[in-house]
Amino acid sequence: MVTGEECTYWKFDTLEQNLIDLARKRSYLPRTLCPESIFIDRSSLRQIIDRLISLSQNTGNEYAIGVLADTLNNCLVFGNIKAGDHKSVKIDWTKPGIDNTKFRRAMSIHTHPYNPHDPLILSGLHFSPADFESFLSDLQLICSVMAWSETTMLLAKTNARPIPPDHSLDRSRILSLEEEAQIGTVPYLTSFPKFHKLVCLEFGLVTYIATPPDINTLRRVRVVES
Ligand SMILES: [Zn+2]
Repeated sequence: MVTGEECTYWKFDTLEQNLIDLARKRSYLPRTLCPESIFIDRSSLRQIIDRLISLSQNTGNEYAIGVLADTLNNCLVFGNIKAGDHKSVKIDWTKPGIDNTKFRRAMSIHTHPYNPHDPLILSGLHFSPADFESFLSDLQLICSVMAWSETTMLLAKTNARPIPPDHSLDRSRILSLEEEAQIGTVPYLTSFPKFHKLVCLEFGLVTYIATPPDINTLRRVRVVES
């Protein structure tokens, strides 16, 4: 693991290098080495988020891109941008070149459209049950980014409670967490944060969020069992 100058603070380069190393080793972030913050200003991630958000704002639809770890050339490769509709999008995981074996799916990025007239404030600021499902069921993926308006959230899988490599995701577990958080029956601002916390605890995920005015520093959100 590369820890950077300070183990609690990573620039995007450090995240990038770690994603490639982890993809090569087919593992997730060691829980004890998760940084407190990740700085993305002037990074390729910032640029692609800005591009996707602008497409989303202009159309009202979701946009997504897959990020592959090229373990041979030691770099991240951004795929093709895909457009979805106003509530879902599918990532294009087409691998470039002929030798496909050196690429691993490392990070997914997608947007939620921002609707200033939506009466439900912050309605796009979440990972949906479907977002969690697609992230968790793809065992290669290490991180997932969701961008909405000027806010960015990043989820990372850790080795704290690794997802068994020989099983597919137990969808019924996600469903029961949805029920436990009372999604659809209690207000959004109560149910969604609870659901997020339950899924992170269940599957050993860490969450980072960058909000205005500092949209370039993803800060770790502590999920404490209550
Ligand atoms: Zn989503």
